[in-house]
This record gives sequence, structure tokens and C-alpha cells, in this order.
Amino acid sequence: MSVPKKRYAMTVDTRLCVGCKACVLSCKAENDVPDGFCRDWIVEDVRGEFPLLAAEIRSERCNHCSDAPCVKNCPTGASHVNEGGAVLVTHGKCSGCKACIAACPYDARFVNPKGYIDKCTFCLHRVQVGVLPACVTVCPTRTLAFGDLNDPESPVAMNLSSRRWKVNHPESGAQPNLYFLL
Ligand code: SF4
Ligand code: SF4
Repeated sequence: MSVPKKRYAMTVDTRLCVGCKACVLSCKAENDVPDGFCRDWIVEDVRGEFPLLAAEIRSERCNHCSDAPCVKNCPTGASHVNEGGAVLVTHGKCSGCKACIAACPYDARFVNPKGYIDKCTFCLHRVQVGVLPACVTVCPTRTLAFGDLNDPESPVAMNLSSRRWKVNHPESGAQPNLYFLL
């Protein structure tokens, strides 16, 4: 996999997310996601025992992994790395074999009833014309930030240098680019 010049990433501030799902609904509208499916979703993680409970709400989606198992396991080349490291699916090349679904550590993909595998694209069609992903623009609490991690002035780079953060399933080795600010 070649190293892209830009490295797009998203940060999710777990201190700000209220689980309103505006991000989920905006994604469905922007990307014409069919009923019963979504490209992003909310996880409500409650830990501890009463009265010492801690709750974390996370807006999750494809991690656009830098070493993406979905790409490595796609037999047709449909799953590929695009601009900024965004992982996309070329619908016409997708045979629907589901090898990528089995390989993804994040359960980020689904079978679109139209016959191809579907998932978050980081709204690359918007990013390429200078507009932020739909979920980022609608979030009422500014939980979500998007940008180029190779640009130290980008909101995502500044968030990662100024805050504690984690990624989901670091043990997968997939090198995810969805960061949760703590
Ligand atoms: S729109 Fe923002 S606050 Fe609402 S669920 Fe999504 S990330 Fe959380
Ligand atoms: S999260 Fe899953 S679908 Fe997204 S790039 Fe990583 S392995 Fe592929």
C-alpha cells in the first residue's frame, strides 16, 4: 500500500458527544443510505458499578485504516486506498463476496441491497470540493473534527497533540484513523 501525501483522519470528542444521532441522520441523507442500514452509529459505553458509573458516548464509523485488512483481503481490488488514505469501494468491481466484511475489525461494512459493499467514505466527494464531511458539519456540540494529520495546523493534528486519545482495537494492527479524545 503506497503512503499517501495527505492522511485524512477524524477525531471524536467523547466529552462532548450527547448521542443525538444528528451525525447518523445527516450521513444517511447525504449518502442515500438505504433504510435499515447506516454508515456511522453511536456506541454508549457504560462502565463501573453504581454509584461509580462512567459513561462514554462515541460516534463510530469506518476507521479508514492505514493498513486496512479490508483492502488486503479484497480479491477484486474493489476496496482500495484513495486520496488522503480514505478507503473506498468501487461498486462496479465489487462481487459481493463479503471477504472485506469478515476482515474488518470494526464491523464497519454492510451489504447494500443494490449489490455492493457499502461503508463510510469520509464524504470524500465533499472533501474534494473543500467541504467537510456531512456528520462533521451538523454535529451541534462540535464533537467531530476532520482533516489532514500530516498538516500540523489541521484541527485533527492539533486535537491529537493537545488531548489524550485512544483508538478502537489497536491490537488489530490496522492502524485506524478514527481517534477518540478522552
Ligand atoms: S451529532 Fe455530534 S453530539 Fe450528536 S451523536 Fe453525533 S457526534 Fe454526538
Ligand atoms: S475500519 Fe474496516 S472497512 Fe474501514 S478501512 Fe478499516 S478494515 Fe476497512
